[in-house]
Amino acid sequence: MNLSPLIYFSRLYGANQDLVTCGGGNTSMKEDGVMYVKGSGTALKDAVTETFVGMNHTKLMNMLDDVYPEGDVEREAKFLKDVTDAKLPGEESKRPSVEALLHALFPQKFVLHLHPSLVNGLTCSVNGEAECARLFGDSVVWVPECKPGYVLARKMKDIFDASEKKIKTVLLENHGVFFAADTVEGLATSLNGMMNALTSQVKDFPDVESQAEDPGYGEKIKAVSGKQFVRFNASPAALKFAESVSAAKPIMKPFNPDQIVYCGPKVQFANCENCLNEITANVIIMKGVGIYAIGDTEKNANNCMTLVKDAMKVATYAKAFGGEKPMNEELVNFIVNWEVESYRKSVK
Ligand SMILES: [Zn+2]
Repeated sequence: MNLSPLIYFSRLYGANQDLVTCGGGNTSMKEDGVMYVKGSGTALKDAVTETFVGMNHTKLMNMLDDVYPEGDVEREAKFLKDVTDAKLPGEESKRPSVEALLHALFPQKFVLHLHPSLVNGLTCSVNGEAECARLFGDSVVWVPECKPGYVLARKMKDIFDASEKKIKTVLLENHGVFFAADTVEGLATSLNGMMNALTSQVKDFPDVESQAEDPGYGEKIKAVSGKQFVRFNASPAALKFAESVSAAKPIMKPFNPDQIVYCGPKVQFANCENCLNEITANVIIMKGVGIYAIGDTEKNANNCMTLVKDAMKVATYAKAFGGEKPMNEELVNFIVNWEVESYRKSVK
């Protein structure tokens, strides 16, 4: 299979920071019963032939007719094994994206899956589903929040089976978006249409970039947490969220799986320096000062701060759609314990 169109649009969208943060998102291409999907832990912007894992499309689709155990641990273990077994011979050393089965569901040749902040302003909002219907009618399918992995694939399969139309765009609540098309241009049309529609709705585009120097609390945070790398943000948006506990509320809980993977499930609000005597999260909002992100490696600290910026954007965009809606707690716990996501972090 000639993967050049897949490599082309993977790099194109992967390099756009409004669309891709921390390697989140993935792409695929299908031809003659074979699907090439991005490998877990690789970056779209650096896509080359080896980035993609060849998979038997029929085997993947057969997974959706199989019977899976009820228990989370048993079910996800079988899910992982079956996805692994669907790899083509010679691909044993690679690990496909955890979302490979979702890509397989689309009959179209190309699939693009992203978690853009702007899109998640809608998917992580109180009125997301109604606003999706108002803005996009039946051209976009809304999938309510659910456990990732096998459960999400199953749910999407049921929605696909019940639909009379060929589904081209799917919004996943508290997660992101899928675009599918038989041409690369078709993907661009769907993507641009959605981004333009959302841009026209949002009034407030927050400034989350910060050049500010750490006023000094970073050293204490490092010493107390034992984590060696700290990033500081005192952007206009960060200072607004850091004004008070109630101002910080919209970003105190995770919006999407990426935030849990890179920042952990919790955010700490520190009213004063003494509150830093105990560090209970990787993200610390310090009243009147700004936001700190910590990590045990430079990469983890950077990724954590990138996701803090994402959270600030999502919370602000969501105001246009009834206000922000974090992930439900049961799902947060599920992802914390999900082996495939911790793998993604370990190779990033
Ligand atoms: Zn995703």
